[in-house]
Amino acid sequence: MKPLGPIPPGFAALDGELAIAGRKASELVAQAGSTPLFVYSADLIRARVTQLRAAMPQRLALNYAMKANPYQPILRLFNGLIDGFDIASGGELAMLQAAGIDPAKVSFAGPGKRDAELEAAIAAGVTLNLESEGEAARALTIAERLGITPQLAIRVNPDFDLKGSGMKMGGGAKPFGVDADRVPALSRQIIASGAVWRGFHIFAGSQALDAEAIADTQRQTLELAARLAEASGAALPHCNLGGGIGIPYFPGDVPADLPRIGAALAERFEQLPDVLADTHFCMEMGRFLVGESGVYLTRIVDRKVSHGEVYLVTDGGLHHQLAASGNFGTVVRRNYPVAIASRFDAPVEEEASVVGCLCTPLDRLADKGGFPRADVGDLVAVFCAGAYGASASPAMFLGQGPAAEMLV
Ligand SMILES: *Cc1c(COP(=O)(O)O)cnc(C)c1O
Repeated sequence: MKPLGPIPPGFAALDGELAIAGRKASELVAQAGSTPLFVYSADLIRARVTQLRAAMPQRLALNYAMKANPYQPILRLFNGLIDGFDIASGGELAMLQAAGIDPAKVSFAGPGKRDAELEAAIAAGVTLNLESEGEAARALTIAERLGITPQLAIRVNPDFDLKGSGMKMGGGAKPFGVDADRVPALSRQIIASGAVWRGFHIFAGSQALDAEAIADTQRQTLELAARLAEASGAALPHCNLGGGIGIPYFPGDVPADLPRIGAALAERFEQLPDVLADTHFCMEMGRFLVGESGVYLTRIVDRKVSHGEVYLVTDGGLHHQLAASGNFGTVVRRNYPVAIASRFDAPVEEEASVVGCLCTPLDRLADKGGFPRADVGDLVAVFCAGAYGASASPAMFLGQGPAAEMLV
């Protein structure tokens, strides 16, 4: 038997079934009308924001990186909970605008911004985190043509990365940001252009659980910001420290020690150099805010045995859960937290693999896990499905189409 990832806190059994926000899985599926289904718990999202605010210094603003989950009801929920939004495309800007979110709270990072996207962002008053000198020149030209003063920040490619992070976004050659040694020249040019100077965006990595590593990266980020601000000849109005805090997905993963990260940052904030004395700081996070709030529910449509191994074949799969299948940036496939939702408090009785309905061996949601004996009609829950699920999976593969989504 292979271990399964840890089920996040906040889920309980009710009449033997998994309950999400106090409601039974079968009831939620009945309400949605079909499986597969993503269910997100608003209470768990609120609790996460509260937990983060309690741990972090008050001076730190919190942004939601919406690429983790752009579901409209979640965007509207966050609008009342956090301080800003980070987007990575013109499409995401349109989604935020549709949710009625004030573009003044939005910053736009991401390589390869097209002219039309720059124009829409400048016209809306969004802060651009510029990824290159070329992009800066295009943004200034477009702003001049529109007769609008643009809000410009520089995304810095730091000369360090986040140790132990699942996704490294800095250190060495990268398609993201402007190499640190070229930043002062560009910031001087932006300030001289008359644009509203919005400072730096420094994102060194993502999905880290080691508080020490995260705190050390934040220390380096603040030092780099101070050095670059000095060299730019202006106090720094704003600094986005990036994100980095991950969630436990796999067996043995332990949640990041938030109070420790917060205490280390508070200590840094006490000792800021003059050039950062009045800086507005924020962190931007996606998966940490929403990842554990979501569950993917799928129904078993076949139970079969091949060469003595049990396969529970579901109506879902990697087309909604690419990450859980191990095909979204993982090197070695390990099991996500997966359970039989309709027998949530039943003991483990057998070893089984949970697979999807796609005709590819990649479509595996749990490999040789321990489960209660499940049969056709039972519901399977894949946890940690709130981030990079629905929007980061190839929903159109094999003509399957998207899953239903629900915020409860
Ligand atoms: C993806 C991304 C994030 C969010 O990362 P998470 O791991 O979901 O917290 C934050 N900032 C930038 C610039 C990103 O590209």
